[in-house]
Amino acid sequence: MDYRKRFIVNPGEALSLAKIDPSHTDRLASEEAALPEIQKHVARMDELQSLLYADASQSLLVVLQALDAAGKDGVVRHLFSGMNPQGVSVFCFKKPSADEAAHDFLWRAHQRTPARGQVVVFNRSHYEDVLVVRVHKLAPQSVWSSRYQLINGFEKNLVLDGTRILKFFLHISPDEQLARFKQRLDDPASNWKISEADYAERELWRDYMTAYEEALSKTSTKDAPWYVIPANHKWFRNLAVSQIIVDTLQEMGLKLPPARVNLQEVAQKYHAAAAKQVHLGGS
Ligand code: AMP
Ligand code: MG
Repeated sequence: MDYRKRFIVNPGEALSLAKIDPSHTDRLASEEAALPEIQKHVARMDELQSLLYADASQSLLVVLQALDAAGKDGVVRHLFSGMNPQGVSVFCFKKPSADEAAHDFLWRAHQRTPARGQVVVFNRSHYEDVLVVRVHKLAPQSVWSSRYQLINGFEKNLVLDGTRILKFFLHISPDEQLARFKQRLDDPASNWKISEADYAERELWRDYMTAYEEALSKTSTKDAPWYVIPANHKWFRNLAVSQIIVDTLQEMGLKLPPARVNLQEVAQKYHAAAAKQVHLGGS
């Protein structure tokens, strides 16, 4: 199954999230079958990241957006833990600091975009500026509504410079969110994650869906597509996201750079000599 085709938000097309089942799983997939697949993908992501790093001409930006408890942290933990920490960074976008708020909304995002050879994951992102900002009326409509185009221009600039951009909306149902909140209340290891604000945000579900629908439909582009991932089942979410990342990295034409020395010459000069027991320095 080509999950990119299946879950892409077609550029320019209106999006109705109510029509996408958050409990969807691939007819052919089961949790038992998915776990080894996910492991394979994670291992492949590690190999491809090494290649991206060595190639050093392109980069990958993964944007994760979702409501609370939809699995953004789970995706980071399960799927990116296999990568070499030297080549991957994760940034969590919170309420802007005073310094960030004193700049244009893209400023803090731009500082964190991946350098060539690097993978960066945005856990929340510049999209909050057309989501939470809209829902909570933190800026007037004239301000947030002009941001879709600004975001598209910003992302186009990154793409032209060699960054591949993948954007995932993790789609869960209100019932599933409530069940996960309850688990956080019940599990001492997760107590710290829950706040009353999380329950208050839930009340705004409809408004968030409207904001997401418009944002995703206006900013899904050929070069920086959005994918709506059914996320009620964590295993299916991990399967779909990891496969899309592997498929994308695989088609980036990543290559090991050529050797910087004449291998034969160096081998002969240093290794043939070593066989003759040449000593370093001294007598
Ligand atoms: P969490 O992801 O649960 O740690 O929460 C981070 C919080 O920061 C969320 O409630 C976001 O909506 C909020 N946040 C992120 N970016 C912005 C922004 N640009 N303006 C206002 N709030 C934001
Ligand atoms: Mg939260």
